Amino acid sequence: MSETLQLMEEGAKWTNSFIFLKKKGVRVSLNCNMIQMTHVFKTYPSQITALSDITLEISVGEFIFITGPSGSGKTTLLRILFCAERPTSGEVVVNGVRITQKGFREIHLLRRKMGMVFQDFKLLQDCTVGENIAFSLEVTGHVQKEIKKKVFEILSRVGLQEREGDSVLSLSAGEQQRVAIARALVNDPPLLLADEPTGNLDDPMTLDVMQIFTDLHHRGATIVFATHDMDLIQRYPYRAIYLLKGRKVSGSA
Ligand code: ADP
Ligand code: MG
Repeated sequence: MSETLQLMEEGAKWTNSFIFLKKKGVRVSLNCNMIQMTHVFKTYPSQITALSDITLEISVGEFIFITGPSGSGKTTLLRILFCAERPTSGEVVVNGVRITQKGFREIHLLRRKMGMVFQDFKLLQDCTVGENIAFSLEVTGHVQKEIKKKVFEILSRVGLQEREGDSVLSLSAGEQQRVAIARALVNDPPLLLADEPTGNLDDPMTLDVMQIFTDLHHRGATIVFATHDMDLIQRYPYRAIYLLKGRKVSGSA
């Protein structure tokens, strides 16, 4: 087994035992990082520097907000963690994998442990609501009967069970956002990256979605939640990192 695969298995074992203990109601505090970013810079080909010298550690099982005004680098940071963007320099380790040095196969395996809610949803426009969610279960090898059940359950959780057979094009922005959330959550990921996931939702729906994320967090998942909504952040007891023009201006490493 290659060194990388071994590291990934070890990372997965850590995460799984942590989640197991949390589910059993055991209070666990592990000095173990899900994410470690060290001196990360990102400059786009347009010469815009979106991230500047970011060093950040996020523990296994932590819920953390990434905040800052529009253009401060929140989306870039999440896209780097999801391996959708490579940093220009610096090092990024996610669940034991040094992603800055890895190829497609390792990244593909790592992504199975992540759910990502994209700011622009990234739904398959010519598919139904149900198909968009079923697709993530098919790629992770679930059988049809199980897929049907899980799709229904997660759509009920976000209040869209009656829209399963509808085209995503017929949905409002808020409804599309809820489908994107359902798709990210359906595999019960140990790591959830959420980019402004409540940006198109009204207050009651925002509270519902926060409850879903809080439940996932209580089951042991690590949650990285980008939002510019300071009121929302103040309602929850979680650590917040504040970005300004790509620099981390507050929040501990
Ligand atoms: P936020 O999510 O906080 O609004 P972003 O990460 O989207 O911030 O953007 C940070 C900066 O990088 C902005 O100045 C933005 O215009 C720029 N940027 C983001 N994505 C790209 C890209 N693909 N190409 C060029 N510049 C980009
Ligand atoms: Mg953004």
